[in-house]
Amino acid sequence: MNNQISTDKNSLRVVNAFIIVDVQDCFITGNLALSNSSARQNGAEVVPIINHLLQTVSFDIIAFTHDWHPSNHISFFENLDERRKYLKGDQNKTYEPMDTVTYTGPKFEMEQVLWPKHCVQETAEVELHKDLMVNSSKNNIFHIKKGNDSDIDSYSAFWDNFKRQETELHNILKQWNVTHVYVAGLATDYCVAATALDAMDLNYTTYLIQDACRGVANESISNKTNEMRQRGIQIIQSRQIWKPFSKYLLTNLNTTFQLKNKHKYQSWIIYSKHRFPRFLCSPFLHNFIVRDINLHLQTYENERKIFFWWKEFSSYTFLTYVLQSTWPFETRLSFNSQYYLLTHIEQSKTINFLNPNDYIHPVRFVSSSIDHHNQNTQLQQLIEQYQDHSHVDLSEHQLTDEDMKIISKEILIRKQCKQLVLKSNRITSVGVSILAQTLHNNNSLNYLDLSSNQVSDDGVHFLSKILSMNSNTLKKLDLGKNRITDDGMKHLAQMIKTNKILTQLDLCSNEITDEGIRLLANAIENSNSTIELLWLTSNTLITDKSIESIIGMVKKNQSLKRLWMFKCNLSEIGKKKLKELEQLNKNFRVYVNNWKD
Ligand SMILES: [Zn+2]
Repeated sequence: MNNQISTDKNSLRVVNAFIIVDVQDCFITGNLALSNSSARQNGAEVVPIINHLLQTVSFDIIAFTHDWHPSNHISFFENLDERRKYLKGDQNKTYEPMDTVTYTGPKFEMEQVLWPKHCVQETAEVELHKDLMVNSSKNNIFHIKKGNDSDIDSYSAFWDNFKRQETELHNILKQWNVTHVYVAGLATDYCVAATALDAMDLNYTTYLIQDACRGVANESISNKTNEMRQRGIQIIQSRQIWKPFSKYLLTNLNTTFQLKNKHKYQSWIIYSKHRFPRFLCSPFLHNFIVRDINLHLQTYENERKIFFWWKEFSSYTFLTYVLQSTWPFETRLSFNSQYYLLTHIEQSKTINFLNPNDYIHPVRFVSSSIDHHNQNTQLQQLIEQYQDHSHVDLSEHQLTDEDMKIISKEILIRKQCKQLVLKSNRITSVGVSILAQTLHNNNSLNYLDLSSNQVSDDGVHFLSKILSMNSNTLKKLDLGKNRITDDGMKHLAQMIKTNKILTQLDLCSNEITDEGIRLLANAIENSNSTIELLWLTSNTLITDKSIESIIGMVKKNQSLKRLWMFKCNLSEIGKKKLKELEQLNKNFRVYVNNWKD
């Protein structure tokens, strides 16, 4: 175990238990699949993470818990009618699955969530996920069944919800002198949280491995996580206890690169060069040389960022990063402080980092190629309703980056749609990079609305790279409310210098300052003759300092016809100066107070 985490000076010996909660088919693909609940999380995602921990961390004991109900269980919505006589309040009221009721009996008065029938003993879906590495032959592996009393539900692996009956878990942990408990599994906001909280109550030093859990609803996940934190449970990521095998390439690399003798690097360089030509075969990826990312790499926020760039080995003598995929456990390399080389054509995204305090930062990758199987059948059905070449509006559908693979494949490639509105979803730069790739050589899309997402400067970067190539037909781009700063404006300005297609650009409600405006105005002034409509409204960091660059832009550029700049931080004098521009150029209008002033 990583000493940083598990050493407790007060105890003589640290004994670690890993409790893996309910990683059962029922919660992954079965009747109570988390992907169907409001947070739409995929329970299967915890399997490789938990497996990796099982393989690489030497836990002293491991307990798999099983939700294990008789078919007449109190928690089943399907059993509501049989138990109506115990309903508190109106016994004839209609309820839906997932509603909470209060039963006054048969044993206790208690609140109960009416779950769809799930984890019924001896049925197929009660099984643990088939890929979960359950090595039951070892004597330190235990299986805990819970919820077998038909009249009391049991979220925690220690107790039923009424703390009336105890499972054997606490006894086992005591027998093994366990001091530290690590909890992961399904679902974060119910059985995982209840188990972790009980472990804490029983005085175990308790950790929740957050990235190895998936839950039911975003709100309760965050509430329960806060409660756990407040009660003293340490919320950690698997990377903090993850340990590479010595046989792994990256372990050897770590050792090599920590040596002062740089000649020892040579064999690794040769190895990587061997794979290098394959990487170079992809002309498309050449457009994605991303620089200076390493500064951001060390923050956890950059998880799920997509990496696809390369650099020759000439500067490898700087800091070295080692990258690894999680599934399958394949190692990829990156070199030096400024650039990374991936030895794989496929895009990858980090999912986490190991030992961020070390000199070398291994980064784990998972594949994110467009063809990956994706489970969002709801979205698939929705897309089927649209005709080819149509205008698709998927605003406010809680779409994630993962969904952008479907959108790319189905809407952009297959249906060749003309307009795509993805307003108010949960799309980050990762999703944008997927869309951006598909836009290359796309001849149908002319309007893309990504407003009110989390595109950020990185997303703008991906889009800008593609739009600079003029290999698409996109005329209108809406990037309103996406936390775009001057960094993003650098990329946009660069793009605007070469793009000859875009006519409308919406950048409302971002975090653009006068510097960003200077870059943009400069690009439009000197190198663009296509942008006609520009929205900069509600960028409250724009002040009168921008006036001069805007005046310069409007005076010289002939294409710009409309500029919206209300709700910025402009003085009355500044607004007046902008309005005067309308005298100079009869085709130009600027709106400084409202939509039409
Ligand atoms: Zn249950």
